[in-house]
Amino acid sequence: MRGKGRGCSSPLEDIKDLINKAFQYYESHGSPDPKLVEMKGKVTPLEIYNYLPKINCKECGEQGCFPFAVKLANGEKTLQECPPIKKAQYAKNKLHLERMLQSIKLE
Ligand code: SF4
Repeated sequence: MRGKGRGCSSPLEDIKDLINKAFQYYESHGSPDPKLVEMKGKVTPLEIYNYLPKINCKECGEQGCFPFAVKLANGEKTLQECPPIKKAQYAKNKLHLERMLQSIKLE
């Protein structure tokens, strides 16, 4: 969570940021679905990678699909930053990834 493009921040600022995000989430979504909460923490970069196109085109700005998967798992990237996943041939994978990543957005 530290150093996500905000420069250096103190642990206290990180906690404050996390609490604010939780309030924002609650205000806009209400209580999270228990299934999503349970799924959170179980989503690994490897699971995400398995549903990415695996063509390592680097259009996302990463060196390949696996580094992108790591950043998706950490919430540092969004699926929209992978242009190939929008192609019809990856439609099922995209849908699956969106469901998986929904649990990560709970932060
Ligand atoms: S843009 Fe998508 S397909 Fe291309 S390297 Fe990044 S994650 Fe892989």
